[in-house]
Amino acid sequence: MAVAVKMAQFMERASWIRKMFEEGARLKKIHGAENVFDFSLGDPNVPPPPAVRERLLDLVRNGPDNMHAYMPNAGIPETREALAAYLGREHGVSFKADHVILTCGAAGALNVGLKALLDPGDEVLVPAPYFVEYGFYADNHGGLLQVVPTRDDFTLDLEALDRAIGLKTKVVLINSPNNPTGQIYSSDSLNDLGEILDRKSRRHGRSLYLISDEPYRKIVYDGYTVPSIFQHYRNTVVVTSYSKDLSLPGERIGYAAVHPDAEDGPRLLGAMVLANRIMGFVNAPALMQRLIGGLLDQCVDVDIYRRKRDILYQGLRDAGYEVVKPPGAFYLFPRSPIPDDVAFVRLLQEENILVVPGSGFGGPGHFRIAYCVDDRVIEKAMPGFRRAIEKSQK
Ligand code: PLP
Repeated sequence: MAVAVKMAQFMERASWIRKMFEEGARLKKIHGAENVFDFSLGDPNVPPPPAVRERLLDLVRNGPDNMHAYMPNAGIPETREALAAYLGREHGVSFKADHVILTCGAAGALNVGLKALLDPGDEVLVPAPYFVEYGFYADNHGGLLQVVPTRDDFTLDLEALDRAIGLKTKVVLINSPNNPTGQIYSSDSLNDLGEILDRKSRRHGRSLYLISDEPYRKIVYDGYTVPSIFQHYRNTVVVTSYSKDLSLPGERIGYAAVHPDAEDGPRLLGAMVLANRIMGFVNAPALMQRLIGGLLDQCVDVDIYRRKRDILYQGLRDAGYEVVKPPGAFYLFPRSPIPDDVAFVRLLQEENILVVPGSGFGGPGHFRIAYCVDDRVIEKAMPGFRRAIEKSQK
């Protein structure tokens, strides 16, 4: 067999999204694309702000001669400077350019951070439900994912986290606003988490690092904001990207920022820069680094997502679904009306509705709806959502 045994197993584990994709293609052939309601992918459908195209055109016409050249592996100095100033404003902590590394999206930043921090056998603790790729990323660097439940409303269960941190734990990985639940972790819970990590680091004689994955930081509703974890714990790396808030997922641009007071910070940053190079990224795409350097305060029109959330949330509630109203991101994570979420997802497929079972995110008994789709898709899918819950009660 050409493929490594481990990769063959991973391909099996990673197959939910692929299955959905194949099922979508099959259903579209039979019923026509306009009659298939695909909520399976977190691929933003809101266009980038107009400033993105304007700046891109300006760069193409007037950018410097060396615009496409190699650069330091951490990224273009001017963009890192601009990001340091931005982070200072956003988090109330004073950053320098050296604390920031441009990466190939948040995925690149997560891998850079984990490669720099993990030794083989180290554990990465993650509250569930969680972004499904985390398990693969931890494994990329010899780490093992340990999953801790959250509470019924998907907020942090701090006692469970406290209990789960063991001698092998090296990293706690959080994601707020969360994919798949849309939940935001409160300032109080982050403060308590910081205290737990401090206490456990002292007790175990081993510094715990927190990685906070924040690509949905700007996609928040109803006056919610995302508290800064940098205020609560110094051994923190924030990773993020412009995939969601500027709708640029295909351009692979993001960054990692290390707390200026992190223990062993300069060496950690050095390791992350080397990781960017030796994982084969070398550096984040040059043109995109120049682009985002001038657009740090920009964001897509979040109200478009808020409207979609409201239509879907209300429609599902009226149909009898149990669902937490998410304050951020563009996902809903309703409870499956029957315990077997995979079976319920099949019932939805009979209505040409594609969603992902919660089991795929470590959240069995739920399913994920990515509502970054056209309003018409949401409206046309509602009767199908209603029929599926009715069928499930028979
Ligand atoms: N983290 C979370 C929670 C995500 O939902 C995603 C993408 O959907 C990523 C990371 C990776 O995003 P990027 O495109 O920036 O690599």
